[in-house]
Amino acid sequence: MNPYLETLKKNGLKITPLREVILEVFQKKRATLTVEKLCQLIRRRIPRAGLQSVYRNLSDFTKAGIVEEIFIEKRKAAYALCHGFAVHHHHAVCTRCGRSEEIEACELGFVAHTLSRAFRNLKKKLGFQVKHHVLQLEGFCRACQR
Ligand SMILES: [Zn+2]
Ligand SMILES: [Zn+2]
Ligand SMILES: [Zn+2]
Repeated sequence: MNPYLETLKKNGLKITPLREVILEVFQKKRATLTVEKLCQLIRRRIPRAGLQSVYRNLSDFTKAGIVEEIFIEKRKAAYALCHGFAVHHHHAVCTRCGRSEEIEACELGFVAHTLSRAFRNLKKKLGFQVKHHVLQLEGFCRACQR
């Protein structure tokens, strides 16, 4: 079974036609999409899909960890599908076409080591305890560099 659908089920979310189409659109586009753009694409399949219900589903998907809110164009919110959604990762987003690549660099020993040392220093300096971090990489994908 499709791991996304499986994750929906595990989170108590029923598999509806709208949810399936949202996942399909993301998988086909492999890009970061604003809710408006996503809605446009969904309406080719489900003409009456409403913006509000797409929003609601994205929020459910976010809680289930299969999509992530990404900021594009000066902090405008959009969403990207997560591929390795079970593990800690980051997104590298193309600022020209919106393509989203996933990076699990923090899982690599030396990055994790450097980060935890940096976080320990932060605790010493500011007394702030880091529990989680968010990192978004921006740039141009291979196709957009040509
Ligand atoms: Zn993600
Ligand atoms: Zn690109
Ligand atoms: Zn990380």
